[in-house]
Amino acid sequence: MISQADRDRLRRHIRQEQEKVRRDIVYLGAQSGPVAPSNAIGRLSRMDAIGARNINGAKLRDARSRLVLLDYALTRIDHPDFGLCTSCGDPISLARLQFLPESRFCVECAG
Ligand SMILES: [Zn+2]
Repeated sequence: MISQADRDRLRRHIRQEQEKVRRDIVYLGAQSGPVAPSNAIGRLSRMDAIGARNINGAKLRDARSRLVLLDYALTRIDHPDFGLCTSCGDPISLARLQFLPESRFCVECAG
């Protein structure tokens, strides 16, 4: 069972993470738009730009799904079974929750 003080700390941490991830989403969204035609920047650098765009697109998808998990964690934070592994029901270590507050699985089940 997680103490109220730890829940409050985790809640603040989740809100900070949400802010960070939202900023990342804005930045990555701007970076993953259409790439200019070849004649504008040359064929090789256009391929680089497409590669970078694909990487940013993947990061953008990751950031969006992390935000969904963080939002969900925040709605659950005061629930008695917040911090319990969804799979085995064991408590998720506080260290893991501080690192990844959206964790829904203990280290064993996540691995
Ligand atoms: Zn587990």
